[in-house]
Amino acid sequence: MRFSCSRWSVAAILFLLLGTMPAAQPAPRDATDPDFARSVKEWTTAPEFLSPLVDHLPVVAGVPTPKDVLGYHVGTPKKLTKTAEALAYYRALEKASPRIRVTTIGRTDEGREITVVYIASEATLRQLDTHVASLARLADPRTISEQEAQRLVAATPPIYHLMAGLHSGETGPPEMLMELAYRLVASETPLIRQIRDRIIVSFTPASDPDGRDRYVDWYRRHMVDITEEKDRITGPPYWGKYIFHDNNRDINYSQVTMRAHLEWYLKTHPPVMHDLHESVPFLYTFSGQAPHNPNLDPIVYGELPMFANFEMAQLTKYGMPGVWTHGFVDMWSPGYLAFMSSNHNGLVRMYETFGNGGATTMKRRVTPPSGGAGQTSREWYRPLPPYKEVVWSMRNNTNYMQTAVLSALQYASAFPEVIVENFYRKSRNSVESGRKEAPHAFVIPAGQKDQTRVRMLLELLQRQGIEISRTDTELKLSDGTWPAGSYVVCRDQPYGRLAKTLLEKQSFPDQTLRTYDDTGWTMGLMLHVDVVPTADKAVLDAPMTRVTAVAGNGRATGPGAAGWVVAHHGSNDMVRLRVALGRNADVRAAAAAFSVGDTTYPAGSFLVPASAGAALADALVKLDLEATPIAATPDVATVPVDLPRLAMFSTWGRTQELGWVRHAFDTFGIPYELIYKERVRQGGLRAAFDVILVPHQATTGKALVYDVERKAGPLPYRKDPQFPSLGAYGESDDITGGMGLEGVLELQRFVEQGGILITLGGSSYMPAEFGLQRTVTANRPSATFYAPGPIVQAEIARPQHPIFFGYPSTKIPVRYANGPLFQVPEEDEAEQVLMRFTGGDEGVLSGLMRGAAETRRRPAIVETPVGQGRIVAFATNPCYRWQNHGEFGMLFNAAVLFWNDRPGVRTQNAERGALNAKR
Ligand SMILES: [Zn+2]
Repeated sequence: MRFSCSRWSVAAILFLLLGTMPAAQPAPRDATDPDFARSVKEWTTAPEFLSPLVDHLPVVAGVPTPKDVLGYHVGTPKKLTKTAEALAYYRALEKASPRIRVTTIGRTDEGREITVVYIASEATLRQLDTHVASLARLADPRTISEQEAQRLVAATPPIYHLMAGLHSGETGPPEMLMELAYRLVASETPLIRQIRDRIIVSFTPASDPDGRDRYVDWYRRHMVDITEEKDRITGPPYWGKYIFHDNNRDINYSQVTMRAHLEWYLKTHPPVMHDLHESVPFLYTFSGQAPHNPNLDPIVYGELPMFANFEMAQLTKYGMPGVWTHGFVDMWSPGYLAFMSSNHNGLVRMYETFGNGGATTMKRRVTPPSGGAGQTSREWYRPLPPYKEVVWSMRNNTNYMQTAVLSALQYASAFPEVIVENFYRKSRNSVESGRKEAPHAFVIPAGQKDQTRVRMLLELLQRQGIEISRTDTELKLSDGTWPAGSYVVCRDQPYGRLAKTLLEKQSFPDQTLRTYDDTGWTMGLMLHVDVVPTADKAVLDAPMTRVTAVAGNGRATGPGAAGWVVAHHGSNDMVRLRVALGRNADVRAAAAAFSVGDTTYPAGSFLVPASAGAALADALVKLDLEATPIAATPDVATVPVDLPRLAMFSTWGRTQELGWVRHAFDTFGIPYELIYKERVRQGGLRAAFDVILVPHQATTGKALVYDVERKAGPLPYRKDPQFPSLGAYGESDDITGGMGLEGVLELQRFVEQGGILITLGGSSYMPAEFGLQRTVTANRPSATFYAPGPIVQAEIARPQHPIFFGYPSTKIPVRYANGPLFQVPEEDEAEQVLMRFTGGDEGVLSGLMRGAAETRRRPAIVETPVGQGRIVAFATNPCYRWQNHGEFGMLFNAAVLFWNDRPGVRTQNAERGALNAKR
């Protein structure tokens, strides 16, 4: 840290002058930093890309600017800041000024601090805890009178929260916020004083700190000197530990970092949450396009354009071209991270600014290469459009974003009471809507065989602040009777609308509209848990008890002389249990249903030897499984539940969808080796592995095989002390080029020698397209087909197959993954088709599928014998994000528990006996 002395003395005098200025007089202009003004002018590529709000920087004695700590101004070409460096700056600012507070809200997967910064006047910040407590009271209108609410509205400044760096390749926002923080703390202009005095500004400096640091290392290592748009290269193989952009699709908050944001949100209740992204030119401010989520409060749809239009008008007034609203991203899916705000009666906001994927200035083509005006046409919502071509810099990006954010804060500070009152009204409306509108509640009936998924559903709802109760007695309603002990989610609660959003079936409002992400997410269908809406208002007054923590049901008594039996009702904990018992444990599974006394156990139920003893008891404490002692070995064919040597294949170019599978396998404790093209090409796969799993990670066979284009290579991703976050999760001297045909040949050898190759979703094109499954054709739907993640009906064609152990019904809901439309020769269908889509509009259970007839009777899982091995190709993705837990079981059965247990003959009756039976 180095401060310039000569400047300080001048600034100190000014500071004294300011300090004595009567409040009624207009504040003088700040003393400014001439070096900053000169530099910014130089780095801004055209005068109109700068505004009077950010063309200068105040200097104040004792308060460090970003340059004082970092050594460079924000927006310096080729300079990106890592999270620890940024944090050092915020802490230095905090040390110097009572107007800023830096807090730590959690730790990332890789141990980095997740922080939130608050800025306001000293007086406001001193009362921060009181204001946060007041917002919490306004968030639950059941606890306060209308009079008290009005008092709180008048006395509570809104928290306006900004989020930066959720997407690590969008590098500008974390830079901009450092300068914004300084400006808000140090400046004495009337605008900044108004903001500081009337609202609380808070922000997340980096929403994905692990990804931020990895991207900055990659930029410094590979990208910093690339100055031509045509020479731009791919980003690093990883951002965070598991996922990339999908950190903005983690609807169930499965990732530790996303969960930290949610937990902070539910404690702090900022009425506005504003996520800063980069993509389209030059600044897009979100105003909430159709399709609209119908459960969000209508007030939200008034608030969104209110802010967006003000910002568009302000920046246009400053002469900045290319600021627009409307026409990009819609309000359908509730799964985006900042939607936690609207989902909880706040307001979600979003910008997209124009970024170069780093801080290198370059000429950018803005119109699409295919022709047309793209986003450069003049429209009612884009009155001064972006240029068709532009030389763009990090400083331009910083100027736009900061000017717009300051305008948003100007607006918020002009109407602080309106913002807080709206937050309160939306919260109150949510409670009231549960009383006024059906469904009034959702019932999760007691007695469901698999309690693991019931518990998971309840915990996911509770994680979002949704209250759950349990019926004390039988619940008799006009539309159904439910046993005592059923769980109930009443809608007359602050987050009752969110419960409806998550639990109801999604009916897409307009078949002609497109949407940015999934159209369906109904939790009961995704988890295969019965959830029943009720239109009987009497449910709200039924006797029930609030459940704070859903207790597990796991238990074991005994053992009996022959050990235990653990029923396989589809719990995903079966795999956890098997792994916990140790690789060498002699666990067997029944190949068919059987009875012990009056109890019937389904096929796949585990027979655990008495020798498992303590390990079983230990494991069951944490799981929702029951182990029943048995006196004698039941009379049923069994298979050994032996664990495979499992590899998971990853391309270097698209690790995200696979990251979800890694996350699931890590969570369930399943051991596997992560392999890349280097290992595949090396060969000898069968000697090393029993099963190779290729999760969804491409939409064509070619993309899976050839992966990152060679033209950028060689591109090493290796551990390097100079770039310490590179080389995580795998290393390569050159991530380009893919496995190539030699890799395909090695996979073929692996299967011919007895290996099991399992492909998911789009990766299932490869075996058919490259001839590994010679008789299978992988077709594509027509150009008009459109299926953004609906939930559809599937039919199990071979219920006795071990893949379906734990599935009691042959009709199951699955998420449509846009995998191949398989075609199998008629004579092979009976043996090779394990599951089908029923297809047609009637097969769409939630969300949108346009052209559903094309999926009618199409195979959803195909199993093809090849040499001594097999290929199991899923057209579905049975491990999609952290959502379709009802499908996870098929993957665990296929890849882990019953990987080598295959029925040898075609008829279902004969299957039982022929199931690799060993007694
Ligand atoms: Zn983004």
